[in-house]
Amino acid sequence: MAPGTAPAPPLSEASPPVAPTPAALVFPTFDTALFEAVRAGRHRKVVLQVPAGLVRNAHDLAATLREAAGVPVVVATRPCFGACDFPSLDEAQGADAAVVLGHAPIPNVRRNRVTYFVEMRDPLGDPETLAATVAAATVPRRLGLVVSVQHLDLAPRLADALRARGFEVAVGSGDRRLAYPGQALGCNYTSAEAVADVVDAFLFLGTGRFHPLGLAFAVDRPVWSLDPRQGTLEPPIDRATLVAKRQLLVASCREAKRFGLLVSSFPGQDRSAMALALQRRARERGLEAELLVFDRLDARDLVGRDLDAYVNTACPRIALDDAGLYERPMLTPPEFLMLLGELPLAPYRFDTYH
Ligand code: SF4
Repeated sequence: MAPGTAPAPPLSEASPPVAPTPAALVFPTFDTALFEAVRAGRHRKVVLQVPAGLVRNAHDLAATLREAAGVPVVVATRPCFGACDFPSLDEAQGADAAVVLGHAPIPNVRRNRVTYFVEMRDPLGDPETLAATVAAATVPRRLGLVVSVQHLDLAPRLADALRARGFEVAVGSGDRRLAYPGQALGCNYTSAEAVADVVDAFLFLGTGRFHPLGLAFAVDRPVWSLDPRQGTLEPPIDRATLVAKRQLLVASCREAKRFGLLVSSFPGQDRSAMALALQRRARERGLEAELLVFDRLDARDLVGRDLDAYVNTACPRIALDDAGLYERPMLTPPEFLMLLGELPLAPYRFDTYH
């Protein structure tokens, strides 16, 4: 366990999938190898799901897949935020396979049909130049490397280049929700937690602020961000301010009496067992707690409810990243336990989805 990390609360989390689960086939890029595999699968119909950033290209991608693999393709209009929210069987009726772009499989999430994961690997970035950029900044010498799936191919070469410049580089293995060592997942940074004891900072290799923000919550170490495409190095996010805001939010719920416990039906976001455990705890303290179920959460569906606050057991990032969309405070499960006095306010505990 990382220093500064509180012990896990005694909650039941999602159970591992029950075998057999339909196959997961993994491809680095959207190209011939994928098309041949889909063709060989002799599917009746394939549903294509893309992340929000690729929605504009979805119809061209579908046309390419249809032609190259010789199979009917439908496009899921709901983008995938992770490998946790596949189209349900009802959403894409008759499709006996899914092609999901931009994500690695989550090993302990049950699939509802054969699924082709296209990780959209991006090998670009010069490790020597990137290592020189890191060496020129005031980055601690003992580093933990955490990487978005798209840039995993670059990670070993970057680690070697950093070591050649005198850095100690640790790459941790995470738990059963992560497919690769060193992998960043927005709800699970156990690959970082595994090496937090032996590093003084983390280096995130990837783009955007989504993972640096999650890492800042999950590990009590500075997180530097290295963009392999732009070659830029961003300094750490101010963790103390982030955590203080969440602690203030917990404190603001002290008078709350009526809670909505949010539960998603997506296969990789369903923590209904945890929600029931939280409901029992709340009721033992004389609080009202209602389970509210959905697949993808829409803020409009929470408007006008006679509730004081929410506890989100679905994707952990909803409460942390999207709080401004909701008219009532929204806590993570560990924050709710802080409110109930079952966990201390500090050290802060990230809502790791196992
Ligand atoms: S639960 Fe949230 S953070 Fe985790 S994989 Fe799904 S969308 Fe991403």
